[in-house]
Amino acid sequence: MKMSETRALQNARALKRLNRALPEIFPAQALTHALARRWTPPMPRLAVDSYWRAHPIRADRLARALARRSGAPKGWAWRIGPRRGLPESFRDPPAPYREDKFSLGPGFCCVCGQPVFRFGWHCDLWDAGINHRASWHTACVVAWRLWNAPSEHDRMLRRLQARRCAQTGGRLWKTAEIDHRVPLFQVWRERRDTPWPGLLSYWGLPNLQVINRDAHASKCADEAGYRARARIADSEDAIAR
Ligand SMILES: [Zn+2]
Repeated sequence: MKMSETRALQNARALKRLNRALPEIFPAQALTHALARRWTPPMPRLAVDSYWRAHPIRADRLARALARRSGAPKGWAWRIGPRRGLPESFRDPPAPYREDKFSLGPGFCCVCGQPVFRFGWHCDLWDAGINHRASWHTACVVAWRLWNAPSEHDRMLRRLQARRCAQTGGRLWKTAEIDHRVPLFQVWRERRDTPWPGLLSYWGLPNLQVINRDAHASKCADEAGYRARARIADSEDAIAR
C-alpha cells in the first residue's frame, strides 16, 4: 500500500473517532485546523492541542492577556531561589500561580491564574463550569514552552522577520540564533519591579528576535561587559554598606 493510501485510511478512521467524540459545541478554529491537518487528530482534546501547537504566537498573546485579567496575587514579588515552588533562575519566566503560596489549585491555570474549562479551553463554551481536573490552559502550555525554549520556534520567528537579521537587517544565515532583545539578566537587575504580568512580555514575542551569529556574538560581548560592571557596582555597594 502506498503511503498516501495508508494516510487516507488512517485519516478516515481518525475522523470517525473524532466525529463520535466531538461534542455539539467545539471551538470552530480548532476543528478547522484539525480537518486540514496531514494526519487527522482522533480525539477532540488532541485537536485542541494541535491547534495551539500550530499557533504559538496566538498562545503567547492569549496567555499574557489572561494573566492581565488575574494580575499578580497580593503580596507577590518576583523572587528566585532554591525554595520549592520558586523559579531557580532569572531565566525562568516569573509565574506567581505556580508558587505553592499563591497556587489557586485544580481548575485554575498555574500560568495565568484564570479558570480552565473543557479541553483546557480558556472560556466556557459549554456552560459546563470549571474543569477541576486541569491546571493548565492548552494555550498556556504552548506559551510556557515558547517562553522557556524559544529556539524551538526558530522557523516561525525567522518567518516573522521575513528572514532578515533583526540587528543588522541583512539576510539571516542558517547559523542565526534566537536572542532576547533586552537580556533577561538586565530584566532581573533593572526591571524586576515591572508589575506582573507585564514582566512576561520579556519572555514572549515582544522581546524575541533572531539575529546572525556575528551580531549575536558582539551583542553578547556588550552584555558580558554590562554584567561585569553590574557585579563591580554590587560589590562596591556591599563595601559601602
Ligand atoms: Zn492559562
